[in-house]
Amino acid sequence: MKERTFLDAQKAAIEDFAMNKNKRDREFYSVDVGDSTFTVLKRYQNLRPIGSGAQGIVCSAYDQILERNVAIKKLSRPFQNQTHAKRAYRELVLMKCVNHKNIIGLLNVFTPQKSLEDFQDVYLVMELMDANLCQVIQMELDHERLSYLLYQMLCGIKHLHGAGIIHRDLKPSNIVVKSDCTLKILDFGLARTAATGLLMTPYVVTRYYRAPEVILGMGYQANVDIWSVGCILAEMVRHKILFPGRDYIDQWNKVIEQLGTPSQDFLMKLNHSVRTYVENRPRYAGYTFEKLFPDVLFPADSDHNKLKASQARDLLSKMLVIDASKRISVDEALQHPYINVWYDPAEVEAPPPKIPDRTLDEREHTVEEWKG
Ligand code: AMP
Repeated sequence: MKERTFLDAQKAAIEDFAMNKNKRDREFYSVDVGDSTFTVLKRYQNLRPIGSGAQGIVCSAYDQILERNVAIKKLSRPFQNQTHAKRAYRELVLMKCVNHKNIIGLLNVFTPQKSLEDFQDVYLVMELMDANLCQVIQMELDHERLSYLLYQMLCGIKHLHGAGIIHRDLKPSNIVVKSDCTLKILDFGLARTAATGLLMTPYVVTRYYRAPEVILGMGYQANVDIWSVGCILAEMVRHKILFPGRDYIDQWNKVIEQLGTPSQDFLMKLNHSVRTYVENRPRYAGYTFEKLFPDVLFPADSDHNKLKASQARDLLSKMLVIDASKRISVDEALQHPYINVWYDPAEVEAPPPKIPDRTLDEREHTVEEWKG
């Protein structure tokens, strides 16, 4: 009798386990998108690929529970090595903590795998936007839209800076917009201790928007992100990449050809070998901002638009300054006449997020520890 009870209990436990497993299986389904398979919770229907980045593929989907469209990003094998694991963990923690209308919000996170040993893929569910900024750059925007997009970028950046996050890698593909002209930043840029480059991924990294202090390996401060905003504004005006270098060397050439060789006091801030290289480049006088961004590039058909064009050019001339100590700050940019028409303290001065793990960037763990 005793024996039977024990056996029954064991059987029941196994059944229970199996049923739960089946139940769990029933919560997910798989669908092929491009070269990848998405295994997602059933609440997410109608998956369609909308983009891909260094970390994986992004789909739009309809969330039956929230009754709205969402974006789902599959982090493809985030535990394949420490760099990927670190990046995935950092992104997840930051996305969960930051709550600002100009930074993408996280709605859900899940994995279809059932145990730590199987744990492979992570899916992030986010608010769905309509397009990334690469697509918007092709369009002819009026000053109202142009300045509103910039204002929102600056609000998002200021909020990140308030949390001690200096992005350093803002680019059009990581900024998304809606047709009502609202804008959100998608990622959190380079970690302070980021291992960049060769070993990370075969994916080609876009460096056109990186500031001289990043290209030249100098120290940096918060206004490193202003350079990127300047490059993005320039591209929205010109419809062409401003500094399209094949590599950092070529990119530096593009910078000095247009803006001119920087002054001696800037060169003195470089470390010896970089300074030798920079000093040995041909000298360029650079062009005035009127030449770099002539009137024809801007909507300037009325007195109002002419004024706006000259304000936009003035802002460009203050953002695209090689020497960071002479470049405009985020706060100053928000007060600039081209931008301050949108100033709303609730958006600009929202209290900074609290990041629980201040040592996020310095942490070293094995892949197994990151999974846990
Ligand atoms: P990522 O992997 O984050 O670099 O994203 C790659 C691309 O997917 C972006 O350039 C966007 O085109 C698109 N994308 C990512 N997240 C979203 C989102 N929440 N809404 C709309 N499009 C997105």
